[in-house]
Amino acid sequence: MEQGTGLVFQSLRLVEHANPSPAPCSEVRMHELSIVFYMIDTLEEVARQNELTTIQRVTFNLGEVSGVLPDYLVDCWNWAVKRTDVLHDAVLDVVPIAAVTVCNDCGKTYGTVAHGKTCPHCGSPNTVLLRGNETEIDTIEAL
Ligand SMILES: [Zn+2]
Repeated sequence: MEQGTGLVFQSLRLVEHANPSPAPCSEVRMHELSIVFYMIDTLEEVARQNELTTIQRVTFNLGEVSGVLPDYLVDCWNWAVKRTDVLHDAVLDVVPIAAVTVCNDCGKTYGTVAHGKTCPHCGSPNTVLLRGNETEIDTIEAL
């Protein structure tokens, strides 16, 4: 019985070692990876249309409640751009956009992350997200 457990453990370790590092952004964070692929498609198209040879830096607005994790986004970016020509050494600057909600009843604004959908000023649930859901390319530096 003990010997059997030991063998199972050993084979699990072997499997682990046989596959040390897949892509730094694996299926675990498909959201960030799909955004990165979409950005690269867009940027390659911009480069074609404007006859740019090298994109050096891209600024990306990332809303606080967009559900995208900036660290994963940068990891995926650094991995994916190496597969391209025009973006090969491009740096991704992620600009965090704070989430703000406005209340339709009292007209005041408040931080979305702290208070959610209920207005902290008057208690109304009649609120709308003003900003903080952005996932958009802001500026591009290129040659
Ligand atoms: Zn209110």
